[in-house]
Amino acid sequence: MKVLVINCGSSSLKFQLIDSDTEDVLAKGLCERIGIDGSQLVYTPLGGKAANHDKITTVTPMKDHTVAVSLVIDALTDQDNGVIDSLKEIDAVGHRVVHGGEAFSTSVVIDEKVKDAIRDCSDLAPLHNPANLIGIDACEKLMPGVPQVAVFDTAFHQTMPEKAYLYGLPYEYYEKYRVRRYGFHGTSHSFVSARCAEILGKDIHDLKIIVAHLGNGASLSAVKNGECVDTSMGLTPLEGVIMGTRSGDIDPAIMQYIADKDNKTLNEVMDILNKKSGVLGLSGGFSSDFRDLEAGYNKGEANCIRAIETYCLRVAKYIGSYAASMNGVDAICFTAGVGENGPMVRRKICEYLEFLGVKLDSEANSKRGEEMIISTDDSKVKVLNVPTNEELAIARETVRLTRG
Ligand code: AMP
Repeated sequence: MKVLVINCGSSSLKFQLIDSDTEDVLAKGLCERIGIDGSQLVYTPLGGKAANHDKITTVTPMKDHTVAVSLVIDALTDQDNGVIDSLKEIDAVGHRVVHGGEAFSTSVVIDEKVKDAIRDCSDLAPLHNPANLIGIDACEKLMPGVPQVAVFDTAFHQTMPEKAYLYGLPYEYYEKYRVRRYGFHGTSHSFVSARCAEILGKDIHDLKIIVAHLGNGASLSAVKNGECVDTSMGLTPLEGVIMGTRSGDIDPAIMQYIADKDNKTLNEVMDILNKKSGVLGLSGGFSSDFRDLEAGYNKGEANCIRAIETYCLRVAKYIGSYAASMNGVDAICFTAGVGENGPMVRRKICEYLEFLGVKLDSEANSKRGEEMIISTDDSKVKVLNVPTNEELAIARETVRLTRG
């Protein structure tokens, strides 16, 4: 089967065409600045007759997502640089949908009722869900009859028990407004924990795994016997560990305090917490990118040292708390941009965890981006580097639900 995986943002659309039989990526790309001046399609053919691996950038107007999807289809079927002969070769479309609320604990084939339910969750993800729906509508219009599947960022976390997902707030806010912890990056947490069990040659139902998805956005999850029992992101992706530009957990009273001191509105403070905080804020605005921070750290720059040290302690504290909530831990997996490529960050986090029996193999840990066990043979808790692959996970879900 050939599956088109779509990840729609409000002004962007990322895609991959995956051959599910070989799990090869045939082509991938990105439409940027949809609905804005200067929109462009960046397309990379990777398989078939056009397997030249060169990026092709086309600057062209895209007034909306329907135009963007039609340009993607044109690129995929282009005589010279396409990877399929016709649109008919696309057997199914898998969409990343950010928020499924409590309605979805697994992926689903999209119909009108599913779209209504995604719309109902828009309050919880106002930037993402409407964009995801626009992408779904655009694909339905241009590929009528091709099955479409929604894969939710929140679904994997729906197994969390009430005691893990409730906040210490008046219960009526949960009853009236569904204020609770939902968690995000679920596709990645699910993919990485399953892969961890495969690498260790163990049944996931016998394992306690902590996944540290450390990218620009970052979240951790506790996966016990194959089910998520806790996760660090909450009602929104702002809660939890310190991220690239997001604050993660803070004392909520800080919001009022800053608003009063700096004469700011709540929306302005929220903007600071989302876009100007995290390691970017801690480094005094230097960078949200760990490549820059690591370089600064190695030169002894105080702002970079401050950012990395504060970040690593926070992640370590989450891992410690998840070892407590699962009453043990067999494996810790690092994934996503920083987790997969950051030996310094992994080492610093693991130094806090020696009391659990974590022993890092410094040679294995020095590698970047490779799937491997990075703890020593005698480490009581296994530590792994597991590159995530959310697109492949979405393609697999799409095949599972649509293969006749
Ligand atoms: P993601 O959101 O998973 O794409 O992760 C993006 C982040 O990964 C970037 O902002 C960087 O901070 C980090 N990153 C990517 N490559 C490297 C690298 N080679 N070394 C350290 N950090 C990296």
